[in-house]
Amino acid sequence: MSQELISYHGGHSGQYCNHAEDLLEEIILKYIEQGFKAVGITEHIPPVNDQFLYPDERALGLSATDLAKRFESYFSEVFSLKKKYAGQITIYAGMETETVTGYVNHVKQLIETFRLDYIVGSVHHIDDRCFDYSRSEYDGIAESFGGYDLMYQRYFDLQYEMIQELTPFVVGHFDLIRIYDDAYEERLTRPAIAEKIDRNLALIKSLDLVMDFNLRPLTRGEKEPYITGSILKKAKRLGICLVPGDDSHGVAEAGNHVSTATQMLIRNGFSTQWPVPKILTKGLKR
Ligand SMILES: [Zn+2]
Ligand SMILES: [Zn+2]
Repeated sequence: MSQELISYHGGHSGQYCNHAEDLLEEIILKYIEQGFKAVGITEHIPPVNDQFLYPDERALGLSATDLAKRFESYFSEVFSLKKKYAGQITIYAGMETETVTGYVNHVKQLIETFRLDYIVGSVHHIDDRCFDYSRSEYDGIAESFGGYDLMYQRYFDLQYEMIQELTPFVVGHFDLIRIYDDAYEERLTRPAIAEKIDRNLALIKSLDLVMDFNLRPLTRGEKEPYITGSILKKAKRLGICLVPGDDSHGVAEAGNHVSTATQMLIRNGFSTQWPVPKILTKGLKR
């Protein structure tokens, strides 16, 4: 029985990400120590241009060019760690993508350049504004949309477009848009929003993609992972595959809650035969 510990989203390290901690190698060693036989490492992609630098990167005076260079060293490090620890753990070299203006070509170019194993397709921006970095930005974006419901709808439209454009092997934290919303459970069931969720799930199923069972909310002390229970039920009905992702940003978070998540998946009738990551993005021959 393959109920092995796994994470297909995480391994952000202080070495290559300003809002993470520790060296990537230390993180890999933590996975090995916990008995992981395989893990996917998915650092954030560098920004398309300086407009999309995060506040912490800006404060350090970093440019998009600096981050592109840093990203190059990220991949050379992942591939060298992959070799170094091949006898102990299978490392899948990946990256987590964005949806800002210009992302499609940017991501395709990165895939061509680095010959990675797979991508996690995530949405952290709505119309070029980052909504998950702070509650004030989140509220500001909702206000500009005329309310949270319309912001949710736009989020799921952008996600749909991203899935069509990139065909990511893993769809990252599907309902991240709920991040600062106390009323999310009910809101996600409102017809105009639920309709878009159903449409996106059907697309995920038709492309045979994996959903990230993202454990970051548990690390923050919240009661359930991304995705929420109501969407989990829909995914199960459709026969969509879910794989845990610790979304770790340092040694202290690597592997956290993965066995709990796996038990949750088993309890809900999901398979724990984890599929092997691959690149599915169109326009690229692999
Ligand atoms: Zn991050
Ligand atoms: Zn993310």
